[in-house]
Amino acid sequence: MSTQSLPSRAAVVIIGGGMAGLSCASSLAQQGVNDVVLLEAKTLAHAGASSFGESRMFREMYSDPVLCRLAQEANRLWREEEQRSGEILRQTHGLLFYGESWDEETIEGSIPGARRVMDDQGIPYEALTSQQIAERFPLKPRADFSGLFEPTAGAVRSDRVIAHWTRTARAAGHQLIEHCPVQAVDPSSGRVSLQSGEQIEADQV
Ligand SMILES: Cc1cc2nc3c(=O)[nH]c(=O)nc-3n(C[C@H](O)[C@H](O)[C@H](O)COP(=O)(O)OP(=O)(O)OC[C@H]3O[C@@H](n4cnc5c(N)ncnc54)[C@H](O)[C@@H]3O)c2cc1C
Repeated sequence: MSTQSLPSRAAVVIIGGGMAGLSCASSLAQQGVNDVVLLEAKTLAHAGASSFGESRMFREMYSDPVLCRLAQEANRLWREEEQRSGEILRQTHGLLFYGESWDEETIEGSIPGARRVMDDQGIPYEALTSQQIAERFPLKPRADFSGLFEPTAGAVRSDRVIAHWTRTARAAGHQLIEHCPVQAVDPSSGRVSLQSGEQIEADQV
């Protein structure tokens, strides 16, 4: 565990110091909730965590209208976050979604489905043939492939975001404790048990 002393209770305990845990800590700081302890098993956004790295793509180009609306709401929140931080947290370079033109949903959606949703939502895009994709990008798509280019999509600078959320949480007095793996949580009492044998009582986990 880090040298920081562990409190015996806190208003909120957050488990995990990746993007989810740190964004939660930062949001609480913005709402004036200061009695917060974040417990991270290793280090904040460490190399084995999903949040590690320079960037994560964002897009509104989904064939599920619910995902599309969630992405639109997320973009609104990213704009607010950029204003607060005074930093550019996203790079808007556009994203290309290309492949088979079948109307069949995959885990990434489908091109016809995404096109329908973007038409409904008024999201700008360009529809590209296989040849147009080959002319504009360093790609050799199959002749029957097609694509959609969303010019307002891009990449979140996850490294900058993590640094911004960490600063915001620390400035609010939150304790971000590294090398502190959680063993168990008792949802009825709010007791958080650590692998070290210590415990923290939390109003919310
Ligand atoms: C290679 C890759 C590429 C991706 N690309 C994209 C993309 O382009 N666009 C996009 O939107 N998403 C992308 N994702 C998904 C996105 O990065 C993740 O959804 C997001 O980072 C998850 O954040 P998290 O905080 O939930 O998880 P993590 O970053 O994994 O954080 C969880 C933290 O919890 C800690 N932890 C776990 N158990 C305990 C415990 N018992 N006690 C204390 N701490 C604990 C871990 O050590 C870890 O630090 C990608 C993911 C990967 C891996």
